[in-house]
Amino acid sequence: MSEPIILETVEAMRSWSLERRGGGLAVGCVPTMGYLHEGHLSLIRECARRADKVVMTLFVNPTQFAEGEDLGQYPRDFDGDRAKAGAAGADAIFYPSVGEMYPEGYQTYVTVEEVTADMEGAFRPAHFRGVATVVTKLFSAVLPDLAVFGEKDYQQLKVVERLSRDLGLGVQIAGMPTVREDDGLAMSSRNVYLSPDERARALSISQTLFAAREAVEQGADDPAALCEGAREEIESAGLSVDYVEVRDAEDLSPVKKIEAPVRMLVAARIGKTRLIDNLGLN
Ligand code: AMP
Repeated sequence: MSEPIILETVEAMRSWSLERRGGGLAVGCVPTMGYLHEGHLSLIRECARRADKVVMTLFVNPTQFAEGEDLGQYPRDFDGDRAKAGAAGADAIFYPSVGEMYPEGYQTYVTVEEVTADMEGAFRPAHFRGVATVVTKLFSAVLPDLAVFGEKDYQQLKVVERLSRDLGLGVQIAGMPTVREDDGLAMSSRNVYLSPDERARALSISQTLFAAREAVEQGADDPAALCEGAREEIESAGLSVDYVEVRDAEDLSPVKKIEAPVRMLVAARIGKTRLIDNLGLN
């Protein structure tokens, strides 16, 4: 596969895309913050299956980080990312500067309401405003027919589905399963922050999710009891739990009894690193 073309301005991105769409080709988009791993690459490969041309966007979006979060330390490897994205099937990389996305005087933001109200939205108050804003701006530059996101960030996937539907952006949103390390840890660019000891203890998150799925398969149907047990297990590995929730898999509304498809969602901190993961239980 040839090297993907690098497009750094909204204008260049849009004309590249318009030319291809004008020629009858379907353009797909995979938004990322870079430092690519197999999870990201699975999205690019799926996008290449669904669309004729694939644009990966690479932008560490400052508006989705709060003061004191890891924006300044976020890992970067542009040359590695370009090679990996190209090998996975990306035709172009949209790689704008912060000034290109948020020029002097910028003051327009997109907010999605109910689905952002709790979990990540509660622990990272401005996070989804930043996500919804940047996704809207990326779509307006890339002009994709479809976009592929990971279930790893399950609430974000639901936010983007809602956003695209509510604003009538005409972008079909696809979600792909979480790619895990052999031992179950969900792949994340942030895993490089973990010391070997922290990494070993972080495994308690995925192990707890798999145990909860097993329990539901054996007939457990009380979400509150499952969440309480899960919290205890993760805390006993020395992590500090932000939340453990069992929610309706479709709209993330709270559930009293496990009947329709549900998802367990977890956020926990270990040392300076905050990790999230989730799993369908039934
Ligand atoms: P990020 O670079 O962390 O903003 O993630 C970019 C996209 O990759 C998002 O749609 C994520 O949900 C997705 N992603 C991140 N980690 C994984 C994973 N382990 N498996 C599948 N998708 C992932």
